[in-house]
Amino acid sequence: MKPLSQPGQFAAAETVEVVGPKGSIPGVRVLGPARGDSQVELSVTDGFVLGVALPVRVSGDVESTPGGHLIGPRGAVRLDQGLIVAARHIHLEPAHAAAAELQDQQRVAVRALGKRGLIFEEVAIRISDKFKTEMHLDTDEGNAAYVRPGDVVEIIADVCGLCPSESCAIRDDPTQKPSRPYCDFAQTRYQIR
Ligand SMILES: [Zn+2]
Repeated sequence: MKPLSQPGQFAAAETVEVVGPKGSIPGVRVLGPARGDSQVELSVTDGFVLGVALPVRVSGDVESTPGGHLIGPRGAVRLDQGLIVAARHIHLEPAHAAAAELQDQQRVAVRALGKRGLIFEEVAIRISDKFKTEMHLDTDEGNAAYVRPGDVVEIIADVCGLCPSESCAIRDDPTQKPSRPYCDFAQTRYQIR
């Protein structure tokens, strides 16, 4: 039907209905080119509709994930595995990665601005000369932040990278520290009560 933003990838005219034990989702677009393993990228909300607990996986990592049925225009197939929530990620052209000093597979945080602005943690960096620089979120994530295709977001090293404090008790590893839910920076800046 049309090319996708990443070079060489395309959206097919055909759609399938994804069927799970509790419900189904019609009109799911088929994307190409074909891969070695079929993969169905869904949102967490889609998982509730289907009645399937979906794992968050990096695209391509479908080992031991839930399966389901696909009903297409010419027939139906059963997938033994392949239903995932795609891990949020940023495709980066090498020049952009070098300019921002980012490494392939690195995890960063990303801040979306606006009235429902929020910070996404655990965003995977993927670098290839076959990519066009772009962040990919699923519908749950995009809707939560009220972002739309074409919006601009900001990569930050991590959430604490926003903070000027050098002597923060939670800065290094919050899971290893005594309970202290909000840092001084957040207390003063956001007036948490
Ligand atoms: Zn992507």
